[in-house]
Amino acid sequence: MEKILVTRSSMPPIEEYVDEIRDLWESHWLTNMGAKHQAFVKALEEYMGVEHLDLLVNGHMSLEMTLQAMNLHGEVITTPFTFASTTHAIVRNGLTPVFCDIDPEDYTLDTAKLEALITDRTCAIVPVHVYGHVCHVEEIQRIADKYGLRVLYDAAHTFGETYRGRSVADYGDASCLSFHATKVFHTIEGGAVVFHDAEMGKRIWDLKDFGIHGPESVEAVGANAKMNEFCAAMGLCNLRHVDEEIEKRGKIVARYREHLEGIEGIKLSPQQQDVKPNYAYFPVVFDEKVFGATRNEVAHHLAEHGIMARKYFYPLVNDFDCYRSQYDSKDTPVALSIAKRVLTLPLYAELGLDEVDEICRLVLELHSSRQCR
Ligand SMILES: *Cc1c(COP(=O)(O)O)cnc(C)c1O
Repeated sequence: MEKILVTRSSMPPIEEYVDEIRDLWESHWLTNMGAKHQAFVKALEEYMGVEHLDLLVNGHMSLEMTLQAMNLHGEVITTPFTFASTTHAIVRNGLTPVFCDIDPEDYTLDTAKLEALITDRTCAIVPVHVYGHVCHVEEIQRIADKYGLRVLYDAAHTFGETYRGRSVADYGDASCLSFHATKVFHTIEGGAVVFHDAEMGKRIWDLKDFGIHGPESVEAVGANAKMNEFCAAMGLCNLRHVDEEIEKRGKIVARYREHLEGIEGIKLSPQQQDVKPNYAYFPVVFDEKVFGATRNEVAHHLAEHGIMARKYFYPLVNDFDCYRSQYDSKDTPVALSIAKRVLTLPLYAELGLDEVDEICRLVLELHSSRQCR
């Protein structure tokens, strides 16, 4: 049997992609904000219903460049329950991350614990819509306004989602998206930033191109973080199919829920109010004492049958080798507990419902009450 990985990149029909890149052989314009880049920006702004958007080489550089464009100094409050990128982008900007614990229900920043971490050095909040779970955006904005802080969302998991009818990426001062091959929507590698302040947008535009402002003017210490034309073309193709992809993912998630909802010792993601979800991930949190097996035992059992579920997100960022000497993950006990117990099950549009049945059967084989049935 072929292995089932946690995700699998979606591909547009090959003819469609070939058609899309054909012009590039005529124009010989392969990068530096060419025609595909421009068309893709427009298409995304329309799809998401946002006013300002820029494209970048990947999600990580979108975080780095946006933080740089915000011209921040001091401490940034963020979550340790995320991918390495979020924290690295903060540190690589010379800023100091301060880790806030997460909400035990949706695993996003616990806004009840946020205010206590604010000092006179705090300049911004960088929350993550982890797994596509929408952060407590109103409460975060209220706190940010009260203390005059900037809000930058890591929206890498939210493509296609709306909250109260508005794109999730439209909240905060800016939101950074990832279009990496493993995400719900991708451009092979790629990223974007949605923002409101046009002046900040101009700074990001310069920063992603070495800080070059004009032919004889380099204003900022930028980097090279431009999206090339081949990636933009991939985005234009994938965008035509993304709604269908999300719909298929929804059916797979519904099947998972049929099998796993209500099983003692298993906690599934919340179905959030006022959110149109994108079914980006299917995290399952195990309570060993009730379920009868640990997360690691479940992961091992699945792997023995060729099913590669992943421990997203473990270890916590504050337990990374490069950060652990400066932080203590015990300061974020909820995040620590979830990180030790969470397993993300395979989820992609082409995953078969029979495969979901098999994955769930294997998981439930380890359930302690099975012996009594
Ligand atoms: C994928 C991801 C990123 C980084 O995006 P890349 O496009 O891979 O650079 C940042 N944050 C989170 C939460 C992610 O999952």
